[in-house]
Amino acid sequence: MKINKNFDNLVPSYLFAEIAKRVNEFQAANPEKDIIRLGIGDVTLPLAPVVVEAMKKGASELGEKETFRGYPDYEGYGFLREAVSGYYKSFGVQVSPDEILISDGAKSDCGNICDIFSEENTVLVTDPVYPVYVDSNIMAGRKIIYADCTKENGFKAMPDENVKADLIYLCSPNNPTGSAYTAEELKVWIDYALKNDAVILYDSAYEAFITEDMPRSIFAVEGARKCAIEFCSLSKTAGFTGTRCGYTVIPKELERDGHNIYNLWYRRQATKFNGVSWPVQCAAAAVFSEEGQKQIKENIGYYKENARIISQALDEMGIFYTGGKNSPYIWLECPGNMGSWEFFDFLLKEANVVGTPGAGFGKNGEGFFRLTSFGDRERTAEAVERLKAALKKL
Ligand code: PLP
Repeated sequence: MKINKNFDNLVPSYLFAEIAKRVNEFQAANPEKDIIRLGIGDVTLPLAPVVVEAMKKGASELGEKETFRGYPDYEGYGFLREAVSGYYKSFGVQVSPDEILISDGAKSDCGNICDIFSEENTVLVTDPVYPVYVDSNIMAGRKIIYADCTKENGFKAMPDENVKADLIYLCSPNNPTGSAYTAEELKVWIDYALKNDAVILYDSAYEAFITEDMPRSIFAVEGARKCAIEFCSLSKTAGFTGTRCGYTVIPKELERDGHNIYNLWYRRQATKFNGVSWPVQCAAAAVFSEEGQKQIKENIGYYKENARIISQALDEMGIFYTGGKNSPYIWLECPGNMGSWEFFDFLLKEANVVGTPGAGFGKNGEGFFRLTSFGDRERTAEAVERLKAALKKL
């Protein structure tokens, strides 16, 4: 018996364990200190009332013989796919309900999509990167190449014509850097993908945070239907991190190597995934109702105001950052030429504030730091004041 040896090639993921260790040690040595966490990637506001009502109703229906339901459709119920399609239409993108597949979230789909592509493909990811793209492809034994995101390119990597990639992960607005591609920039990636017979795996988990004039979907850009798959999630949009629901969009005309990509993914899902529960799909549909959109926008607005408070303080202090405008993430250059972990320790000790060292997301993250806007308003404002006071000591 042999295990999958590719697992030996995974780099141990110690980022959040190391953060927890340092915070716990600091708290044990300083029990009186009140620590504020601006490092969390999870949401904190509760589900919207219409969502809860729909979920309760769905659960009650399962308790009655007349309305009981068993296995859902593999691709998700038609009413939810219609609702997602209508949502795309609201920002001017045409995606048919039969190009949408409902899932338990974007993480699983971003990782599992590799099942339908050969191990011989080269995978391009940006650096810094959301680790799921890297680890799921290392597990499958694929070669990974990195496109550099740096201060110089505003943490938005662009394609290199001399590099050949088959699968390209793009995440916009980005985790961890908060940067977001314009339509013109996405067009360059689309042209590159079409020229190289590549497929773009586009993660739009944070599209709901976009307020400036940039695409909410890669399918808003010409040519994407012939080279892209889009993953989206209700986690950050509607607080579904614990509820679990997302969707993947595959245009019916997307073909590679003589195969229809939608059909391959449908086959994969029908084999290894038995769908999202009835109450959760009812809750997800409520997100896309008129009242649902109104209610979730209040929560997104709350996080965006937190992001604005953090960004404004960085502007005042003259610190370089990306994100904060179309994203819940603020990615800042560590002041005083500090390294990521050095700044982590400084902030913990001097301000009792916790963030995420950029170095944990890739080599280009060294010297950078991620703050998130998913916390409580007053605590965020307090953390910002503490940050300002601590930096005066430098
Ligand atoms: N994609 C990105 C870029 C993320 O940052 C996250 C969560 O942090 C996810 C996907 C996961 O989404 P889900 O909760 O739908 O699995």
